[in-house]
Amino acid sequence: MSKKNRLNTAGKIQEHLKDLNRWSLYKKGMCETCEGLCCYMPVEIKTADLIRMGVLDEFHLELSLKEQIKEALKHPGVTRYTPSTEKFTLAQKPDSSCFFLDAHKRCTIYDKRPDTCRNHPKIGPRPNYCAYMKKEN
Ligand code: SF4
Ligand code: SF4
Repeated sequence: MSKKNRLNTAGKIQEHLKDLNRWSLYKKGMCETCEGLCCYMPVEIKTADLIRMGVLDEFHLELSLKEQIKEALKHPGVTRYTPSTEKFTLAQKPDSSCFFLDAHKRCTIYDKRPDTCRNHPKIGPRPNYCAYMKKEN
């Protein structure tokens, strides 16, 4: 895909994600024909997710919160900690796709993915609706 086409696709994805009125009521099986836009949204996660993902180990829980945050932020897939929500945010690539999404648009940590991903779209910006976008090819 040319750079121009990539930018167009990235722009379309961002537009679609922002306009919740264009989201579709989620139905089982939809993911199979979708571009996977839910993996292009910021994902907030808890410490328990980081342990399941292998970013932190159980023994890190014995450290102070400050040290846990420092340890978690060493991982390239974790970008920040928000004190008001007590949650971490997964890193996104320049096209806004998740750090853990591979070139074939597959989650590289699917079995260990955070609860936020497991609960989408039941829990999300528009519960039970998602940013379905039909795959171009
Ligand atoms: S945006 Fe909706 S249909 Fe697409 S992969 Fe995510 S949950 Fe599935
Ligand atoms: S962790 Fe996996 S399922 Fe969750 S947003 Fe990233 S690639 Fe998608």
